Amino acid sequence: DDTRPAYKRILLKLSGEALMGDLEYGICPNVLGRVAREVAELSRLGIEVAIVIGGGNIFRGAGMAQAGMDRVSADHMGMLATVMNGLAMQDALERVGKFCRVMSALKINQVCEDYIRRRAVRHLEKGRIVVFAAGTGNPFFTTDTAASLRAIEMNCDVMIKATKVDGVYDSDPMRHPEAKRYDRLTFDEVLTARLGVMDATAIVMCRDNDMPLRVINIFKEGELMRLVMGERVGTLVER
Ligand code: UDP
Repeated sequence: DDTRPAYKRILLKLSGEALMGDLEYGICPNVLGRVAREVAELSRLGIEVAIVIGGGNIFRGAGMAQAGMDRVSADHMGMLATVMNGLAMQDALERVGKFCRVMSALKINQVCEDYIRRRAVRHLEKGRIVVFAAGTGNPFFTTDTAASLRAIEMNCDVMIKATKVDGVYDSDPMRHPEAKRYDRLTFDEVLTARLGVMDATAIVMCRDNDMPLRVINIFKEGELMRLVMGERVGTLVER
């Protein structure tokens, strides 16, 4: 039956850049609104949607550390940036009529909930969209690793990494127009060829826990819906 979604529960990893649109910095309200509408549509189909949100559109720890700042403090700032994006996404989702909860891996429970696994699962079961913020709560990690971790903890059917290109290529398609896109890869191929899909920690988490990964273009409207309806869009990475 191809009118039914292919997945029951998904984890969507949105980078900070996915909210930035054409801006140099921060959040583009139009892009935020469009992504929220697309996510809300999935939820209306009955798909349980968890989101891990990045922070690179506001602050990246590694860059500041290179300029001399203490890495741990810089990463704390980076994690707080993801909370800001999470609150923006929560607001955008609620404006399109979906209930949403931001759950933070760092305790700042006057602005959002603390991450508690069983509560997160309960929110999903009730049809609320859960936005996981503050990454893993630890410095030196990335929100991609947080996404792998939460996808596994939530028993999601798939992790979807939303990017600005159509999938995984053998070289950067923005710089090399002749770059070849892969339909399917294994996690080991990604590691061996050092393909810049996600950092190795995130890839290994998915590999060792058998969590399939789909890399798709979030700037293509409708792509997310095509994917959950079973179309082969983007690149599938699996064991
Ligand atoms: N970060 C961290 N621990 C985590 C996740 C994120 O310290 O578990 C910090 C880190 O400084 C990072 C920033 O938060 O640069 C923003 O996250 P990321 O760069 O992964 O965001 P994205 O690239 O997805 O926008």
